[in-house]
Amino acid sequence: MVFSSDQQLLARSSVPFLIPVANRVPWPLQESWPRSMPSKASSAAYDVFIVGAGPAGAAVAISLSQVIPSLRVCLADAGKNIPFRIGESVPPTIKPFLDHLGVSSSFEQTGHSPSFRTLSAWGGPELISNEFFLHVYHTGWRLDRQCFDRMLITEAVHCGTEILSARVCSLKKDENGWLIDCGTAGRFSARYVVDASGRDAICSRLLKRVPIKFDRLVACSIFFEQRAPSEAFSTDAAVIEAFRNGWWYTAAIPGNRRVAMLMTDIDIARQLQVAQLSTWLQYLAETQYIRPLVATGCPLSPPLIWPASSRYFACAYPPNMLAVGDAISSFDPLSSQGIIKALRSSLFASYAIADHYLRDDESGSAKYHALMNREFDTYLATRREYYQQEQRWPDAPFWQRRHQIYK
Ligand SMILES: Cc1cc2nc3c(=O)[nH]c(=O)nc-3n(C[C@H](O)[C@H](O)[C@H](O)COP(=O)(O)OP(=O)(O)OC[C@H]3O[C@@H](n4cnc5c(N)ncnc54)[C@H](O)[C@@H]3O)c2cc1C
Repeated sequence: MVFSSDQQLLARSSVPFLIPVANRVPWPLQESWPRSMPSKASSAAYDVFIVGAGPAGAAVAISLSQVIPSLRVCLADAGKNIPFRIGESVPPTIKPFLDHLGVSSSFEQTGHSPSFRTLSAWGGPELISNEFFLHVYHTGWRLDRQCFDRMLITEAVHCGTEILSARVCSLKKDENGWLIDCGTAGRFSARYVVDASGRDAICSRLLKRVPIKFDRLVACSIFFEQRAPSEAFSTDAAVIEAFRNGWWYTAAIPGNRRVAMLMTDIDIARQLQVAQLSTWLQYLAETQYIRPLVATGCPLSPPLIWPASSRYFACAYPPNMLAVGDAISSFDPLSSQGIIKALRSSLFASYAIADHYLRDDESGSAKYHALMNREFDTYLATRREYYQQEQRWPDAPFWQRRHQIYK
């Protein structure tokens, strides 16, 4: 299922940032653009230090290089010490963001699988199709997530971003900006820090900021490899199927793989013991539409548990710090909006930082937060509508929680 509100949110991109979308300087930079920065940048080793090189962090770096090519930008990542990357379905509306970042042709060469519909048994037992050909851009994608993230980092490097393999451990504000301690990788200083560390939200955590949490959703996922040729296994549609304790999701991904996830609340996941492969498979066997799609697959691991709650850091960040992507807000995977949201917030954050550097105007940060607030409110309203559509299990805690919270 894909929320339709991304179109509306994109249409709102006329937020009054001083550097509106249409006026960005294309890469390579225009001859007239200032090549050296105002003195405020001179005492910091980096102008902008980005914590986290997921889609959000890489997109900030790319967009900043387009808006102010002379900025010295560092993109630091702790490294993803996990066998699988989660989050692979993107709706057709990713296209304008890729175009905007100037990465569309690299994207097309990366070998992602096109997708033309989402199928969902939600609110009733029948499978309903959401056809992408009705969207302005007709093709959605099943990403090879590792390749996608790597492609964006490569683009950021081409734009002049410095890459650092480092885990940010502590942060301190001084009169010039921020001192960033990355343990054995060293200590760095920067005028501006962008928290793009995903759900870790490391900068917020270090500053003891607490998010508002709207649920305790988790994903219990298994990646499958195809064992025998099967049309069902590689079908292009992502499929969603609601059940008494939550909902299931499956999608084929490049490389003859498929991911299947059982989504429920953490306490229910514990009660059901779905972290055990045998129990997870028992619940899978009870599904009507998910089971046949993974039937010819071989599980590559036991169920992996991922936090998937809806969450938002509502209060303002200190001066010279912004958060983007999942580090500021996390959406329910039902929306398939996480990656688009990450790219969108990164574009707007880069304009707010440009306002700071080019015009000494700090109002960009407030405008950015107003936009993020509106985006999250819209998301919550849409999420509520989707969960209200499913009324088949009124006595089940998973659904009661969703229906009660949002009455
Ligand atoms: C179960 C599940 C399914 C999902 N499915 C989809 C989907 O189908 N479609 C979709 O669009 N979205 C989906 N999402 C959401 C999507 O994956 C995220 O929204 C997206 O990855 C956010 O990008 P990001 O760059 O903000 O964060 P991330 O991709 O999480 O990147 C954060 C980076 O920060 C780094 N980092 C963390 N801490 C530190 C530190 N201290 N120092 C340095 N680096 C650090 C990490 O190594 C990581 O590389 C799903 C999410 C979940 C949980």
